[in-house]
Amino acid sequence: MLIRKQNGFDDFVCIADQCPKSCCIGWQIVIDESSLGKYKDTTGDFAPTLQNGVDQGEKCFRQTAGRCAMLRNDGLCDLQKNLGEDYLCDTCRLYPRHEEDFLDLREETLTLSCPEVARMLLDPDYEYGFTEEEDERSDDPEEYSDCDLFLLDELEYAREKMAACIKRRELPFQERLSMIGAAAIDMQYSYDFGDIDLIGKTCERLDKADSFDNAVDIPLEEIEHLNATGIPLDFSYAMESLTFLAGLEALEEDWPNTTRSIKEYFMKKGSSSDAWKEATEPSSIQIQTVFEKVFLSFLYTYLCGSVYDGQIYARCMIAIWSVRWIMLMFAATDLTMEQAIYLYSRQIEHSDENINALISFFEEEIG
Ligand code: SF4
Repeated sequence: MLIRKQNGFDDFVCIADQCPKSCCIGWQIVIDESSLGKYKDTTGDFAPTLQNGVDQGEKCFRQTAGRCAMLRNDGLCDLQKNLGEDYLCDTCRLYPRHEEDFLDLREETLTLSCPEVARMLLDPDYEYGFTEEEDERSDDPEEYSDCDLFLLDELEYAREKMAACIKRRELPFQERLSMIGAAAIDMQYSYDFGDIDLIGKTCERLDKADSFDNAVDIPLEEIEHLNATGIPLDFSYAMESLTFLAGLEALEEDWPNTTRSIKEYFMKKGSSSDAWKEATEPSSIQIQTVFEKVFLSFLYTYLCGSVYDGQIYARCMIAIWSVRWIMLMFAATDLTMEQAIYLYSRQIEHSDENINALISFFEEEIG
């Protein structure tokens, strides 16, 4: 199996009690079957604490006021302290690491919902990229037999072209995103018409195009629903999308209020304000670089998943609009860049309901 690993993946170290937004607070931690059995059979002094803290029926750790029952007041894990790291369940052992399998390829990435990962991404010396190595792990390819290798090749190629496009600093940042969105709609049409071999080729235009209307093979006027899409950044679309975001499942109590206040802030400022322009087209190269990396993180997490569901356009738009929404969050609130990134990710990426809602949101706009 080929392992494609995000830079820094193996170097990640949890900062535990120093963490400003612990993954042990606010989330229900699901326990795998093997760990459940191990916890049930544990004996010794710590066994009663552990067994009282586990809900065997719901297969998760119990919580008190949103805190995992194993989380001590000093911010450390009682289970890990008493029984060691080997006793952690899969969820706690893996997080914030994320694995995505495609037949004989495994992609390993770090999720932005962890403040320490967000901090790593913000480091000017951190370059978003991957290393590859062969691994002898013997996963059964049959398990992923619905993975179309030909389509996957095309998506990987397209993704590389998009990744290069987001770094084209000679173009305005939003133009780069819009060009990628235009390529995605073209890719979706190729997929829908069965022209899989055109998917990667479509993105070759991203190397040289200088605006979103010459980033696609088909004339834009032929794209039926273009005006209803969020491909080029549009103020009204952005404001409506914030209402949609406010209505998503709230994993963070403040989420609906935060998104509403972002909308109120920009509605007061208006589309021709300096606040809107600077929020969406940051003049600082340092800030642009961060948003390039944020985009890459979402692109690498979501795009190739369309090999399983065919939602090329919607998945690409999740990457594009996640960046745009984080830009607006950062500009309109007191949140630091790091906080805006991990709070957004916590809200969206750890809820299947929210990810599916985003896919439907973007899918519907192209009919
Ligand atoms: S969110 Fe990240 S840094 Fe914080 S406790 Fe969890 S793994 Fe550690």
